[in-house]
Formats: sequence, structure tokens, C-alpha cells
Amino acid sequence: MSINQSGWRPEMTPERRSDNATFTGNRALMLEEPLIFEIGATDTTGVEVAEPMKVASKLGNLARSAPIGLPGLSEPETVRHYTRLSRQNYAIDLGLFPLGSCTMKHNPRLNEKMARLPGFADIHPLQPVDTVQGALGVINELAVWLIKLTGMHGVAMTPKAGAHGELCGILCIKAALEAKGEGHRKVILVPESAHGTNPATAAFAGYSVEDIPATAEGRVDLAALKARLGPDVAGVMITNPNTCGLFERDMKAISDAVHAAGGYVYCDGANFNAIVGRVRPGDLGVDAMHINLHKTFSTPHGGGGPGSGPVVLSEALSPYGPLPFTERHGDGHITLVEEETVGDRHPDSFGRMCAFHGQMGMFTRALTYILSHGADGLRQVAEDSVLNANYILRSLENTLNAPFADSGPCMHEAIFSDDGLPDGFSTIDIAKGLIDEGYHPMTMYFPLVVHGAMLVEPTETESKAALDQFIGALRSVAERAKAGDEALKSAPHFAPRRRLDETLAARKPVLVWKDPALAEAAE
Ligand SMILES: *Cc1c(COP(=O)(O)O)cnc(C)c1O
Repeated sequence: MSINQSGWRPEMTPERRSDNATFTGNRALMLEEPLIFEIGATDTTGVEVAEPMKVASKLGNLARSAPIGLPGLSEPETVRHYTRLSRQNYAIDLGLFPLGSCTMKHNPRLNEKMARLPGFADIHPLQPVDTVQGALGVINELAVWLIKLTGMHGVAMTPKAGAHGELCGILCIKAALEAKGEGHRKVILVPESAHGTNPATAAFAGYSVEDIPATAEGRVDLAALKARLGPDVAGVMITNPNTCGLFERDMKAISDAVHAAGGYVYCDGANFNAIVGRVRPGDLGVDAMHINLHKTFSTPHGGGGPGSGPVVLSEALSPYGPLPFTERHGDGHITLVEEETVGDRHPDSFGRMCAFHGQMGMFTRALTYILSHGADGLRQVAEDSVLNANYILRSLENTLNAPFADSGPCMHEAIFSDDGLPDGFSTIDIAKGLIDEGYHPMTMYFPLVVHGAMLVEPTETESKAALDQFIGALRSVAERAKAGDEALKSAPHFAPRRRLDETLAARKPVLVWKDPALAEAAE
């Protein structure tokens, strides 16, 4: 196998070249990069390791008989490989990221500065609590803010993502029902437009899931919901604002009906950035709601960092929340309520969500964000996120079909459909065309209640100039589709790998690299 100095095996190049081929396969400063297996060799390495001592093997016939074949690279080759790959990524630090429901907004650098303070960054969860009072103070203060902002009674800080928070909330509901001798309630009702994690969570916790239909205007059908309530229903899971970008105006009536029928109300709070500071879910009768710190409270995600999904709880569910949690005493000292210390004060906890206290680094970032905005700034977050989405909706409703344009203003995201595109053109062509324009596509084909859905969430951190450019790009791509521009069907043309067969990739993923030279030799 021949490897030239840049790591290229010449025989790999042609198929990777763009139509205007260069010798290297690079396009200006956009550098091509093969797989690590294609550039690495088993006889190169970035570290010098001494030959192991010759000792008798105890492995018997389990000992490896052939080389393991891991690709070795020198340090500069390794650095370049991963740096080149990283430049092929799209990121919130590069540009607007309209991925609906994901709230890809700017991650303020002040958050990062605070999270890197050694007093937060260099501590260990098993340190004695007296030595980490500051960190516990951060968890406790963030908890107080989340309770205040949602008008709830308690909060479980430990869940590590939105979906993990859903599980926490549903386990609280389960524990509360069992405590009342109502463990036979086995059905959770979920609207058709729900995020996939909702039915998955309910099923994972042992419930059967039943759909509630949506009305033509994109909201939960209250009459259908009421008709289905009964002694077998444990609760509902409702996203508000919902994934059609609309506020569920009947939320209080829904909660009242569910409570009257003996069930509990789980609210998916992933879209809380649209209402933070304006609406308190506790006032709407919600019993449990997760808050994605990595969405509403600006901590990094989408490859940038771990999630964090604290769950606020009503008075009815708080006794069942997980351990551990922080407790602030009159003198300001903070202790942890854990299994050993809980005594008879929290006997109904369903248990633990994780080993320690949750995502400390994300708590520090989220609290920094909250304190730097203040209560009035957070209210403006909601107002600006809604304003930006409505600007997009109204700017594009004459270009793309907007199925709920007549349902009133949208919340933090605008939804369009493929209705009106000529035969043979679909949502995917618009999305791929946007890649050529330098944008990560919007959320596609979700929610399922809208045919060929395109869900656009600009977030509040985009300027009018950035929105105008995005609107211009989306309008241009949509008009090309409407004019029947065939080239759009094979877009993206400027991306390193152009259009991939994503269905095939998902159904038949190729997860093992085979050396083509060996594969050829075997034939
Ligand atoms: C993001 C999201 C979730 C899941 O949250 P994760 O943090 O990704 O687990 C659930 N519901 C909705 C509506 C979401 O947008």
C-alpha cells in the first residue's frame, strides 16, 4: 500500500474529486479528508512505546495471532485529520442554525468563562460538601430560579437531557399513582404532533401510548381528549408551545379535565424559550415539566456539549422526585439530601436518575445566563424569539405554504409545508438547496401532522440582518423549486459529499471499514 507524504493514497482520489477536480481533491481552503483508516498505517505512530517485556502469555489460544490493524498517525497528522474534519461541520458559531424544536441559539462566552473557573471546573462530586459550598450554591440557586420561573413547587436537577427529564417526570407520576393505589392506570395520552421522545418515554416506563388527534388549526383536540379520559389513564404528555409552533390555549382546561379524571399532566418544556418570563406552567395545572438547559438557557448542544434536563414538579409530585437534591439552611449552609441523610423527610422518592448531582458545568452556564439576563431580560428572550419566528413566517408565507398561518401568530417557530411545490419536488430538495446556500437545513418532515413539514426556529439571538439573509436564501431556493429547476434535485452541489442516500445509510449502515486492497485480494 503506497502512502504519500500528505497521507493520500493516490488511488483513493478520483471518486472523491468534485466535478472541477484538483490534484488534491481540495477545493480552495476547503480541504478533503479521507477516513483515518485510509491515511493511517499500522507501522506509524505518534508515541514511542517501549517493547513489552517478554513474559509467558496466559492467554492460551485466546492470544491474538494477527496484527490488530489499528491505523497509526503521527501527532501532526492526527491534529490535521481532526481539524480538517471539524471544518466540515456546521456549527452555531459559524452561522444561523434554523433547526426547529432544537433551539440552536448563541452560547454566550460569559457562560464559558464562569464554567471554567477552577472552583467549578476542578472539583469532584465525592468531595466533602463543606469544600464545595459554592458549587452546591450554584445548583441550589438555579433550582430556585427554575421553580420561580415556572411557578412550580419543586425541581429535580439531576436528569441529563430532555428525554431523561421526561423519564424522571413519568417515574414521578408512576410513583404517585402507585402510592394512591392507582397503579392499574396504564395509558398515557400523547398528541399526534408530539416529539418522538414523548411516546418513547411513556413506553419505556411501561405505559401504553394512545394518540390524541389535533384540530385543523394545529392544537390538541380538547373534546377528543376529554372523551378518552377514564380510570385507565395515568396522564397526558403535552408539548406547550407545541411542535406546530402554536400555544396550547386550552392547557388549563386540559389539566383540569385530566386531574378531574385522576391523572397527571406532563408538559414537554423543550420550547420554554417561547414563554419564559411570560407564562408560568404551574398556573396552567402542569404537574411535571422538563426544561432543556441546552435549549432555553443557552448551554451548548448539538455536538457542543452534554445536555441537561431539570424537571420542575407540582406539589403533588414533589415528594416522589429523585435523590440527591440540595437543601439550603437558615445560616446559608447547603447540604445534600441523599439516601443516607434522607431519614423520614423524603421517604417516597422513586430513586436516582444518575450517580451524582447532574451536569454541573451546564448548571454553571445556565445560572450565568439567567443572572446576566435578569427577570426582565428573560421575558425579552421569549418576546424576541416569537418576534423573529413571526418575521420569518410572514416574510415567506407567500412563497411557501404555511399551513397554520391563519391560526394567528406563531410562537418561537414557523412551519411550512411542501404543498404547492411542483410534481417531483419535495421538502428534501429545499433542505439540500439550503446547504448550498451555507445553512444547516431546518427540521424536515416533523411534526408528522404536516405533510412535508419544514420547521424553522430562528431563535432570539439572530439579528434582523441575519434573518433577512436567511429569508432571502430560503425564498430563492423555494422559487427555484417552483420554477422546476432540475439542478435542485441533486443539491447540494458544493458540499463535500453532495447528496447522500440517507435512507440507505440509516437502514443499512456500513459501520466497518474494509481495506479495499484486501477486499480485492479476497475476490
Ligand atoms: C429537544 C426536544 C426533546 C428532547 O430533549 P433532549 O434534550 O434532546 O433529550 C423533547 N421534546 C421536544 C419538543 C424537543 O424539542
